[in-house]
This record gives sequence, structure tokens and C-alpha cells, in this order.
Amino acid sequence: MAFCRQNEWQMPGSGIMISFFDLKKINGRFRDEICHAVQKVVESGWYIIGEELQAFEREFASYCQTRYCLGVNSGLDALSLIIRGYGFSQGDEIIVPANTFIASFLSISENGCVPVPVDPDPDSLNISYRNISEAITPRTRAVMAVHLYGLPCDMDPICRLAEEHGLKVIEDAAQAHGAKYKGRMAGSLGHAAAYSFYPGKNLGTLGDGGAVVTDDETLAGNIVQLRNYGSKRKYFHESKGINSRLDEIQAAVLRVKLRHLDEDNEKRRRIAGRYMQKIKNPHIRLPFTTEKSEQVWHQFVIRCRNRDGLAEYLKKNGIETMIHYPVVPHRQKAYCELWDLTLPVAEKASSEILSLPMSPVLEAGEVDEIADCINRWES
Ligand SMILES: *Cc1c(COP(=O)(O)O)cnc(C)c1O
Repeated sequence: MAFCRQNEWQMPGSGIMISFFDLKKINGRFRDEICHAVQKVVESGWYIIGEELQAFEREFASYCQTRYCLGVNSGLDALSLIIRGYGFSQGDEIIVPANTFIASFLSISENGCVPVPVDPDPDSLNISYRNISEAITPRTRAVMAVHLYGLPCDMDPICRLAEEHGLKVIEDAAQAHGAKYKGRMAGSLGHAAAYSFYPGKNLGTLGDGGAVVTDDETLAGNIVQLRNYGSKRKYFHESKGINSRLDEIQAAVLRVKLRHLDEDNEKRRRIAGRYMQKIKNPHIRLPFTTEKSEQVWHQFVIRCRNRDGLAEYLKKNGIETMIHYPVVPHRQKAYCELWDLTLPVAEKASSEILSLPMSPVLEAGEVDEIADCINRWES
């Protein structure tokens, strides 16, 4: 993802004064705790599927209000293993929002299933219940609800519809660690959920990582073996599994960062509130909020007709922005079989969205500076 290369924007002389986010600063706050945790693993001599993973799985399941948590290698693997763990395969259709990160689609394709993209709701930009109901066919097996930008989807009608049609509801919660819908945790709202711990996520580690959370005992059992070469007992293989495990060092780092997640999300909410209050420009549409949800602002995404002009203007003023995402999956080369589809809400959004700097280390003064700069912009 583009933010791996954030140093490109921070080269001396580039003129960037407010970076999109600063991982060194984000993790630097917990430097001592993290180093201590990593050192403990180094000294333990046990690096894969050990006590740290077990403890993290217990703690994260409890945090998500689910019975099971299984650590895996990435958010993509978490999604993919849920699909495989349910036994979905060749030709099975899974409904997915058209404006998600490509990994949601890839997890479906990887298993031979068919991603069926639907337009999101034009206000929330999350998957729309109405469009899901129109996309259901006899081959539909599941709905993937992506809590985009940290805003939980409106899950009650989606789960009701899924129940009527015997479908599984898979949450892609990769942007929603700690988000709540009607007081309930993201990750506990459907049948199974996937999390990513990619460094830039709200709960991010020092490399790749992911997890599946679920109440479904059979699914959890399937994933325990699938992630470990299809094996429950060493050298005895019940299925053709893969190698996708959250290693001890990453689990130890995540245990430290989980303890700070709620306070970090609170900081994000304060920053979002400040943006909402201070940005006043008729050309800018502010992000959707709702009483139903406690969102965690993985991204703060505004919309603007002349988005490219605004991004260029902010860059000239030393403010770094990003676009999540500039090209929808069904317009990517990787998905040329979907090029005939027209999904106007997703396509229009991709040309208008702009993510402003957002992270728990962004200062109030920086937020004010960004808002003032946006308010001075005349399209
Ligand atoms: C980050 C992300 C993923 C993939 O997670 P990785 O750990 O990078 O594989 C999947 N879906 C969404 C919505 C994401 O933002």
C-alpha cells in the first residue's frame, strides 16, 4: 500500500509540514513497553504458536466480545481463511461493496468464488442493504460487510436479510478495531470477522498480521488447522492447508498496543470532531456520522468535486493527503472481467474522496491549520 513509502513524502526539501501519519511517532510512544515485550520473546526461544499468541487470542477475543480469535498472517489471509473455512469454493458468489480495498475482492477470488460488487449507500459509503437484496441469486453464499474508514455498516437489516436467505455475514473489520454498532463490538456483529494488523491500522503491529474472530466453533476449528498446513497434530494433515500464522513477536507487540487502543481511538474521535467543527467550506462534504455507531476514524474522508485541485493545493501548503481508493476494484486491470459493470455511486465517490491526515499523534494545532487552509480554498 502507498503508505509503506511514506518517507518519499518526507524527504528534506519536499515541503511537507504535516504528514499523513507518522508511524515512528505512533509506535515511539510505547517504545519501552514494545522493546520489553519483544525482548521477552527473543529470550524465550519460542517464536511460532506459543504463549504470546495464545494470550493475544484470548485478549482480543474478549475485546471483540467473541468466543474465538485465531491469529493469522494478514487481513487478506483472515478473510480468505473464513471463506475457505466455510467451504465456499468454485462458482459460489459473495456480495461485496464496490468501493472497498482490493483485499476484500482478492480473498473471494483466491478461493475460486465470485465477487459480486454492489454500490454503497451514497451517504455512509458503506454497503447498502437495498443493493445487497437485489444482488442475491441462488449461488450467493455470503455477504461481506466492510466497515469502511472505521464506520460500522448498518448491520441489523443486513443480518436479517442474510438470515432469510441462509447466507453467512462476514465482516471485513480491517479498518474498525474497537468500533461499535448499537453498543456492540465490530467483529461480533456477523458470523465471522477478519482483522488486519498492518502497521497503519488502528491496531497495527511491526509487520504483517491479522486475525479471525468468531463465535462459530466449527469454523474456528477449521481455521486452526488450515492456518497450520492443515494440521492439528504435528506431521498429521487433515486438509491441504497453508502457512498463515501470527508470530510470537507480532503477538507480543499487539498485546502492548491493544492496551492503548481505546485511548488512541478516543484521540481519533477528538480529532474528527475538531475537523467537523472547524471545516467550513461550501465545496467540501464532511464524512457521515450516525448515532447508531461509535466510529473509530481509521480515515477522515471528505468529498469534493474538484478533489485533485484540492489535493494539489493542500500539498503546496505542506499538507499531505491520500485517496482511499483512487480506482475501484472493478476498474482495475486485475478484474478486467468486471469492466462492463457500472456502479455509479462507487465510481463517483472514487473521484471525489480525499483522506485528510488522521492518527492518534496528530496535534490539535495541526488540525486547526489544515482546517484553516481548507477554508481558504476557493475551488
Ligand atoms: C488493510 C485492509 C485489508 C487487508 O489487510 P492486510 O493485513 O493488509 O492483508 C482488507 N480489507 C480492508 C478493508 C483493509 O483496509
